Amino acid sequence: MEKINLDNYKGIIFDMDGVIFNISEAIKKAVDDSVDKYQVNVNPDEAMEEIAHLIEEIQNYPVPKILLNSYDLLKVKFLEGISFFKKLRIAIFMFNQFNKYKDAESSIYEGIDKLISKLSKHKKLAILTNNKSQYAEEILEKFNLSNYFSTIVGFNDVSEVKPNPEGILKILDKWKLKPNEAIFIGDMTTDIEAGKTAKVTMICVASGLAQKETLNKHNPDILVDNTEQLIKLFNL
Ligand SMILES: [Mg+2]
Repeated sequence: MEKINLDNYKGIIFDMDGVIFNISEAIKKAVDDSVDKYQVNVNPDEAMEEIAHLIEEIQNYPVPKILLNSYDLLKVKFLEGISFFKKLRIAIFMFNQFNKYKDAESSIYEGIDKLISKLSKHKKLAILTNNKSQYAEEILEKFNLSNYFSTIVGFNDVSEVKPNPEGILKILDKWKLKPNEAIFIGDMTTDIEAGKTAKVTMICVASGLAQKETLNKHNPDILVDNTEQLIKLFNL
């Protein structure tokens, strides 16, 4: 298996959800509940990435913006052919269920804390999330990881979120590093696009929300199946 030569890098940027924090169970349960309640015909595996994005966007935007954008937000494949108002009801129900499960069902991936601790001894570490930076701060705090990260960039710190590379470039600028001196680790197609456009080394973890074959089509520099493989890649 491929290994990363850490000597080539000075900084590592982590996405939060799907890389450090595992929200898959909460999303799966929210989807199951919605399928039961509304009898939507959805293949949860295929729809998971879309649903994760939808939840992220609903979570971030103020209500007026969600309402104004709701038509576009709900143009998702898994709700195709359903009337707009039913879509809205399903999305709101799913979001509420997700929030209900989030705290109890979510934790950090096994072993990721040790990897972060080891990497932090030699490299600068940052978080780049499409969620609020405060959300990332709270999770890092909860799992005693705050001290390892010098920089946290959320959607509130950039004008364009991922797949736009702005967040990555902002972190590189702060660190005074060139793209080839940094790694970005993400779990979604939007992460791959952002990493490739920023020209950093893009590692993708197929940790559950997006399907591996979909991620593969977007050509990350390295694609691993799970956290265990991610940890092995660094060989620490
Ligand atoms: Mg993610």
